[in-house]
Amino acid sequence: MTPTTPEQALAELHAGNRRFVTGVPRHPNQDAGHRAAVADGQHPFAVMVGCSDSRLAAEIIFDRGLGDLFVVRTAGHTVGPEVLGSVEYAVTVLGTPLVVVLGHDSCGAVQAAREAVATGTPPAGHLGAVVDAVVPSLRRAAEEGVEEIDGIVDIHIAQTVEALLANSTVLAEQVAAGRCAVVGMSYRLSAGEVRTVATVPAGGRTATLPGPAAPADRSAAVAG
Ligand SMILES: [Zn+2]
Repeated sequence: MTPTTPEQALAELHAGNRRFVTGVPRHPNQDAGHRAAVADGQHPFAVMVGCSDSRLAAEIIFDRGLGDLFVVRTAGHTVGPEVLGSVEYAVTVLGTPLVVVLGHDSCGAVQAAREAVATGTPPAGHLGAVVDAVVPSLRRAAEEGVEEIDGIVDIHIAQTVEALLANSTVLAEQVAAGRCAVVGMSYRLSAGEVRTVATVPAGGRTATLPGPAAPADRSAAVAG
């Protein structure tokens, strides 16, 4: 059955990720029968605002199929108007109850932003827009004394959760009305598992951001 609440959607994602991590995926909703069944309409239970990294394919790492996930991906899960519009379409028109920001360790976009800031040389072309969108997260990491890349990635995921809510009144209203939740997850490339780093529950308004604690403590503190 398709999840209809944020809690059910989150549970379904975690169950699918566990199957993927342990090597027993079911590949649900990928057969010809299901393809025909969803041709007339979609009711995805989660929106993924993920990094474009080729190793972060949402339907694979959460063991889902056609019609399950509404996926928006940019390098470094940076959020511009088209991304916001896509998220708003899913939560209002399709009634999707959960928005997930999906980042990962060793993120190339975060590394590129770090290099640009360190060298004072902005990248050529439109890559500059990606770097610009990551820089506020670098600033926050510096304020908190976080220097290692994966700690910065966690902060950037939480910042992206905040950016979605700060820049989309439509999404913020859906969350405040209790119809939708926003969660930030960090994926580990080698292990294949996701970890929650920020949560804005349905009915809530403020993102729970990683604090200045050590990375391990930080995830534990905000996951519960
Ligand atoms: Zn990335």
